[in-house]
Amino acid sequence: MPPPDGSDAAGDDDGAWGILPHACRTCLGRIVLRGDTFRCADCDATTAGAPDAICGCGLRLAAGPPRLLRCVPNPASMPACRAEIVIAFGEGKPRASS
Ligand SMILES: [Zn+2]
Ligand SMILES: [Zn+2]
Repeated sequence: MPPPDGSDAAGDDDGAWGILPHACRTCLGRIVLRGDTFRCADCDATTAGAPDAICGCGLRLAAGPPRLLRCVPNPASMPACRAEIVIAFGEGKPRASS
């Protein structure tokens, strides 16, 4: 019989989630990793293998020239945004597509 304090959560024996320097493309929540599963800590979006499907990396604008977006630490010069990780334009060379 489980204790009355609600500590009977299932699947609690797989270790802790690790926080990644990636931001959810939907809600800008932090992406966390456990094993091979990437998950948004805020909206529970999940993917496996790579965070690109749910984070800002690889996002493209619907209009305008194709520019890759990527997750970057929030620069201190953006006091209006309290998020630790933001999605910004990638100024580097695009990743080679497989
Ligand atoms: Zn999210
Ligand atoms: Zn990312």
